[in-house]
Amino acid sequence: MKAVQYREIGKGPEVVEIETPEPGPGQIRLKVTAAGLCHSDWFVMDLPADQYSYGLPLTLGHEGAGIVDKLGDGVEGVELGGSYAIYGPWGCGQCHACSQGRENYCPHAAELGITPPGLGTPGAMAEYVIVDDARHLVPLGDLDPVETVSLTDAGLTPYHAIRSAQHKLYPGATAVVIGAGGLGHVGIQILRAISAVTVIAVDLNEEKLALAKEVGAHHTLISGPDTADEIKKLTGGLGAETVFDFVGAQPTIDTAKAAVAIDGVVHIVGIGGGTMQAGFFATPMGAAVRAPYWGSRSELREVLDLARSGGVDVHVERYGIDDAVEAYAKLHKGTVRGRAVVVP
Ligand code: NAD
Ligand code: ZN
Repeated sequence: MKAVQYREIGKGPEVVEIETPEPGPGQIRLKVTAAGLCHSDWFVMDLPADQYSYGLPLTLGHEGAGIVDKLGDGVEGVELGGSYAIYGPWGCGQCHACSQGRENYCPHAAELGITPPGLGTPGAMAEYVIVDDARHLVPLGDLDPVETVSLTDAGLTPYHAIRSAQHKLYPGATAVVIGAGGLGHVGIQILRAISAVTVIAVDLNEEKLALAKEVGAHHTLISGPDTADEIKKLTGGLGAETVFDFVGAQPTIDTAKAAVAIDGVVHIVGIGGGTMQAGFFATPMGAAVRAPYWGSRSELREVLDLARSGGVDVHVERYGIDDAVEAYAKLHKGTVRGRAVVVP
């Protein structure tokens, strides 16, 4: 089968021919219908050799969907021929967090060598992918896999951050979304769908801001040293009750810190390597800072249901598997509008 792999440090993704995998006991094989590209893939591929820990070759693709085409021994509750999305942050399945479906916060996954597909385990950017357990599949039903595959990360991650800040999303409050790319353009829609907050989108790029407006942002601002002042102006001097930073670089974290209101919440979602100092004299009174990771199994169901009810609509650029390298190059350059999805 064809697969998109990262094979050599510093060389970027390649389309290669590899053997089609067979499902072992308890495992499920999907014929992939769609696989999304995430900026985290570039985070991984940009790591120097001494910091790279995902194994080589690495089949990419941590946003995946497919049709069940083969069941390993003992698999129950999964329909052959059924269309499913893959829940990616696999945990041990046994601990307190996993029992709650919050496998994204499983404290044992790393020590047990359990890694997400596309981030250690062979991912979905291939013609077939193996899923380790039936609990990591969510039925898509009538949802178009290409239109919805990115909800498994670009939807689930902002949804998880936004839901955990829901107490700050009251009518009259303001939410700032920094970075209107794959995650950000879905985050804006989630905010609009589940709350009555005013949404301010911030990006470096005018075209991303045009998309942000199109998907529901009330205000858009070009990212720069004055962004926090402009947010203060738009909020009558108070700042924003919530800031979701989908970049996480030092300049955007500095903006988030300067823009957050008293008793507000900052979610640093982007893994751009910046840090925020918090403390009585560093952050506004009562302000909280959190760096969330991905989302829970039930939240994935919720975000798919939100798509069913028309609350979110991922803006998708489609590519064939042979064009995956070009799609990754566009993502690196920052010229993907919404989310790039490979359709094998
Ligand atoms: P993307 O490339 O699709 O979007 C990033 C956006 O940020 C682009 O629109 C870009 O123009 C904008 N941007 C870049 N620098 C900026 C700046 N200084 N100010 C304002 N905007 C700026 O990326 P994505 O796939 O949406 O991922 C976003 C980030 O989230 C990445 O760092 C990714 O690794 C991370 N991520 C984190 C999690 C998690 O669980 N915490 C999950 C998925 C992705
Ligand atoms: Zn666990």
